Amino acid sequence: MNELKKKIEAFAKQEGIDLIGFADQSRFEGVSERCNPFTVFPEAKTVIMVGKRICRGSLRGVEEGTNFGDYALFGKNWLEDEFLALSAYNLTNFIEENGYEAVPIFPNPSDLPPSGVSVAEGRAAPNVYPDFDYAAVACGLCTLSYNRILFSREFGSRQRFHMILTDAELDVTPLMEENVCNACGACAEACPLGAISKEETEEIKIAGKSFTVGKIDYEICNRCQNGAIVNRFSPRCAPDRIAALCNRSCMCGLEERGALTNTFRNSFRNSEAWSIGGNGTVDRSDEQANVLGGVFSKSGKRGH
Ligand code: SF4
Ligand code: SF4
Repeated sequence: MNELKKKIEAFAKQEGIDLIGFADQSRFEGVSERCNPFTVFPEAKTVIMVGKRICRGSLRGVEEGTNFGDYALFGKNWLEDEFLALSAYNLTNFIEENGYEAVPIFPNPSDLPPSGVSVAEGRAAPNVYPDFDYAAVACGLCTLSYNRILFSREFGSRQRFHMILTDAELDVTPLMEENVCNACGACAEACPLGAISKEETEEIKIAGKSFTVGKIDYEICNRCQNGAIVNRFSPRCAPDRIAALCNRSCMCGLEERGALTNTFRNSFRNSEAWSIGGNGTVDRSDEQANVLGGVFSKSGKRGH
């Protein structure tokens, strides 16, 4: 079966997939049926997670405070719904060409409530959406950061994932040994709304590994104007915080300490970051004030 795994990896590379990892059923032992991919396809032998990078440039407009739509499309919706979805779907067809069933799974939040009733006794109510954070760690691609965002060794927080379940038995990817997050606390320091606790933490266990994450008030994040985006499936689920100030500040730290393999000649942040506090006022350096003149009103409130 290693031969098929090699063929799958080669095909994924051709498709522009940056990250691919494999896990078997044993890595999901103890996971609740609503979060477990094997609830969807009990005969599956392998979970495959495939990821594409969020290009650093898609965050540029948010970092400068001058263009928020670019990230929302290239870093989020188009990347997830089109670029990555097509590559993942092509990979499912490739696996099926090789004689095994392959089930493509879209990254819906796993805490969405059921939208139907159980079709038979012992079956979970539809729809079951597996926990992608758990699966990306279980497939050896990521660790979980203090800021509750997946970090890969390659891109830090900059990737999106799709999942494929298959009845092909494929060798598993080793779990990542070292945590990419070094618990520096810069994310909590950077949040202008105090949404990340520096004291209150939670232990999250995934496939035998344990991650310490900060307590985060997502109700505050849902009101954040520093690059966070309310969850598009349900405002009750965790918002997208990859472009938010907390995570962009973390990105700078990861790059500075050489924690990532995807490197750049120039640093991401070249002047003091702008921020909008709880009262809606903008805090920015004079240099940025010039750049942002067209975006923010003189009162310091967002002008759009
Ligand atoms: S800023 Fe530091 S503590 Fe926060 S997620 Fe990044 S590396 Fe971890
Ligand atoms: S999303 Fe906004 S409010 Fe939430 S932790 Fe990040 S910067 Fe703070």
